[in-house]
Amino acid sequence: MYSGPVVRKSHDHEIRRNAGPEANRGITILRQLLPRLGRLYIIAAQASHLPTRLQTVRYPMNAASTPRSITINGRRYKWPDKPVVIVCVDGSEPDYIEQAIKAVAMPWMQRMLSNGGTEFRAECVMPSFTNPNNMSIATGVPPSEHGICGNFYYDRETDREVMMNEPDLLRKPTIFKAFQDAGARIAIVTAKDKLRRLLGHGLTMHSGDAVCFSSEKADKVTMAENGVDDVLGMVGMEVPSVYSAELSEFLFKAGAELLKNWQPDIMYLSTTDYIQHKFPPGSSGANAFYAMMDSYCSELHERDPILGLTADHGMNAKHDEAGNPNVVYLQDMIDTLLGTDMARVILPITDPYVAHHGALGSFATVYLNRITDMPGLVRSLSDVSGMEMVLTNDEACRRFSLAPDRVGDLVLISGKHTVIGTSADRHDLSGLDAPLRSHGGISEQIVPIIFNCRIEGVENRILKNFDILDLALNHASS
Ligand SMILES: [Zn+2]
Repeated sequence: MYSGPVVRKSHDHEIRRNAGPEANRGITILRQLLPRLGRLYIIAAQASHLPTRLQTVRYPMNAASTPRSITINGRRYKWPDKPVVIVCVDGSEPDYIEQAIKAVAMPWMQRMLSNGGTEFRAECVMPSFTNPNNMSIATGVPPSEHGICGNFYYDRETDREVMMNEPDLLRKPTIFKAFQDAGARIAIVTAKDKLRRLLGHGLTMHSGDAVCFSSEKADKVTMAENGVDDVLGMVGMEVPSVYSAELSEFLFKAGAELLKNWQPDIMYLSTTDYIQHKFPPGSSGANAFYAMMDSYCSELHERDPILGLTADHGMNAKHDEAGNPNVVYLQDMIDTLLGTDMARVILPITDPYVAHHGALGSFATVYLNRITDMPGLVRSLSDVSGMEMVLTNDEACRRFSLAPDRVGDLVLISGKHTVIGTSADRHDLSGLDAPLRSHGGISEQIVPIIFNCRIEGVENRILKNFDILDLALNHASS
């Protein structure tokens, strides 16, 4: 098994930045030995604490063979000339970072933003849930094209409610895959495993050029499935609980190790919103999380990547003044209006981890079993207190760029402080140990985009969170 220095293609400034004196001696010797190979670069990874199989041998390559750009899903992306790190902070309503800065919990962020960094407001895709937004960021296109319109959908053909975690539901290749195919090194770390297979879809793991794993299943990684075989050894932490801030901390720590010792060209880190579901902006629980994040962002920044942060969606309080959740139980309501077995309500927020939000969000879709008086039903549901919007499939898909076959006959969106449930007896709210905070609606669409550098040439654009790789690769001034 090879345990010497890592050999990989790179660029001149990367060598100057990353290589120590030993590596520079190595470069000189190799250049003398192999003058005909042109631009040959060595980075010595003094990575003795990394699992040996993570240390990849890349044979000398001519940098001229690296493409200047690639085009994928209708967008062109320039080849990065230094590492690009994108962090998707799950459920990060812009107020979280603003309040944390005010409380002096994010000193690096504060310094960086007043010292060459950039901050924008952007919109996330609807529904404002995790999977649709992460997959939009990964593909650079909205759900109408990549097909992931929720965490969950109802398949009429098989009469099954299906988790949208299966990669074969994804209709577009990811930008990560396209870059790996063209020779880039890709690292993806997620908090929950539900996203890992979607984000890593199409990557060739055993090549040594891709690493993709979750904090949640960090103890179960294999070279074949994840491109790495000892994440716990690399990170130096035990696997945290799926309901914890540490699940996100684990991935930041892993990201810092990978950037330092594995040198990805593009790295994507996607956290979990456990904290944001529990703690409002400015609270001590939230500020502690953002302080942790700030210290890892500072560590990542030290290695001089293009570092971009965004969120998959925002988060709002969904309870009354007494702390009780404001819920519209839609299945009960439709059963009363139309009779039972006439319609099936699907809540696309549902996934295997619902204790912290009781599967309650601000977006629902309804599949009608029989033809009914649609305009009358839309009118009745629009009149429900707390309901913001009731749309037909066609209206919703056009307005929000959704895939018609992954959405029911009706789409319902509740207001800023209201959530939609199915039937009261189908929601277990016993796991809610704090007043309900959730997302899914239009009111959670505004998210931050933050870079540690200037972003140029986007003055007149209305930005989406899924523009972040475009901004990082095509508009960042390094
Ligand atoms: Zn999320």
